[in-house]
Amino acid sequence: MTPTPASQKLFDRALAVSPGGVNSPVRAFRAVGGTPIFMKSGSGAWLTDVDGKTYVDLVGSWGPMLLGHAHPEVLAAVDSAVALGTSFGTPSEPEVLLAEEIVARTSVDSVRLVSSGTEATMSAIRLARGFTGRDKIVKFAGCYHGHVDALLAEAGSGVVTLGIPGTPGVPAHVTADTIVLPFNDRAAVEAAFAEYGAEIACLITEAAPGNMGVVPPAPGFNAFLSEICTANGALFISDEVMTGFRVTSAGHWGVDGKVEGWSPDLVTFGKVMGGGFPAAAFGGRADVMNLLAPVGPVYQAGTLSGNPIATTAGLATLKLATPDSYGRLDATSAELQRLVGEALTAEGVEHIVQNAGNMFSVFWGVTDRVANFADAQEQEAWRYKAFFHAMLDAGVYLPPSAFECWFVSAAHDAEALSRIAEALPSAARAAARA
Ligand code: PMP
Repeated sequence: MTPTPASQKLFDRALAVSPGGVNSPVRAFRAVGGTPIFMKSGSGAWLTDVDGKTYVDLVGSWGPMLLGHAHPEVLAAVDSAVALGTSFGTPSEPEVLLAEEIVARTSVDSVRLVSSGTEATMSAIRLARGFTGRDKIVKFAGCYHGHVDALLAEAGSGVVTLGIPGTPGVPAHVTADTIVLPFNDRAAVEAAFAEYGAEIACLITEAAPGNMGVVPPAPGFNAFLSEICTANGALFISDEVMTGFRVTSAGHWGVDGKVEGWSPDLVTFGKVMGGGFPAAAFGGRADVMNLLAPVGPVYQAGTLSGNPIATTAGLATLKLATPDSYGRLDATSAELQRLVGEALTAEGVEHIVQNAGNMFSVFWGVTDRVANFADAQEQEAWRYKAFFHAMLDAGVYLPPSAFECWFVSAAHDAEALSRIAEALPSAARAAARA
C-alpha cells in the first residue's frame, strides 16, 4: 500500500478524540483494512487527499455529488446565500423553491424538509403510525433507512459491514413491532399481510436497494407492494434517499411508478437534494401530510430544517441536473460497469455486476442474480478488500465495503474513466489471487 503519512497523522489524532476516529462507521475502513484517507478537496470527478494524492471518486459523498465536487454554479449560489446569513429559524425563500422543485419532479403533493435521511424515514414512520392508528411496520432485510431505532433490524450499509445484528441500545420492545421480510419475495409479503394486515401501519422499502450492494426490485415488485398496502389500509413508504434525483429526474419512481401509474403514499428524500449539505425531506399524499404539526397533531420539527444554505445548494444542484446530465450519468455508469466486468472476467474472477439505473455494485464470487440480502451475504467479500486497495493505490476511490453502491457523477469524463481503466487489470489480478 502507498504510504499516506498525513492521513495517518490525522487519523491518530482523530482516534484520540472520537470513537474509531470517524463520524460515520464505514469511513473507518474496518471492512477493507488500512488507514482511512483524509480528503482535503474535491473538483469534478476528482478528490485530493491531505498527502496531495489524487483519486477518481466513485463514492460521491455516498450519493449527493451528482454533478461532481465543487460545481462552480453550485458554489456561486452557496456564496451568494452565505453572504445573506446562514440560518434564521424563520421561513425563507430558498426552502419554498426547493419544495416546489421536489413536488414538480416527483409524486408527492407536499414535503417537509429535514436535515438527514434518518430524520426523514423516522418522521415518515411516525406520520404513518399517526395516520393509521396502527403500530406495526414492515421492512426488508438488507434495506437501510438510516439509524432509526425501529429500523435497525437487519439493516444494510454499515450495519452489514460491521456484522452487527441490529444494535445494542435499541430496546427489544422498540423493534417488536418491526416485521423484517426478504426483499423481492411476494409470498413473504402476502403471508405477513395475511397474518398482521389490520395492525400494519406501513411498509417501507428502498425504492431500489443500494445498501446491500445494488439489488433492484423485480419488475412489478414495487407496484405489488403499493397494491397490497392499499388493500390492507397500510401506507406504502418508498425510501428514495439514495435513488431520489439520481437515477432519473424523479428518482426511482420515474423508473417504475410513473410508468406503471401508481404512487407511494409517502416518500423520503436526501443526498442529491442537499447538494452536499445536510438536507433531506419526506413528502406524500396531501391528506397524510396534513396530519403533521402545525396543521395536525403529529409532531415533527427541526432548528435547522430548511436551512437557507442547504436548500440553496440543493436547488442549484437540481436545476443543473437536466435530462442531458442523466443521459451522461447513465452512459458513464454503463461504460464503467462494462470495464469492470471485462477486467474481472479477463482474470477469471467470478462476479456479477448489478445496477439500478446509474447506481451499481459488484458481487464477488457469485454468478446468479442477487435478489435479496441472504444472496448478497454469500459473496466473497474478501476479494473486494484486495481489489479496493489496488484501486486505491492506483488513484481510484471506491466505497470501503463490498456491500455499498458505486456512484458516478455527471463530471466523470474520459480522463476519469481512463484512470479507472488503467487501474483495473492489476486490481482484478489482486482480486483473483485473494
Ligand atoms: N435511506 C437510505 C436509502 C439511505 O441510503 C440512507 C443513507 N445512506 C439513509 C436513509 C439515511 O440517510 P442519512 O445518512 O442522511 O441519515
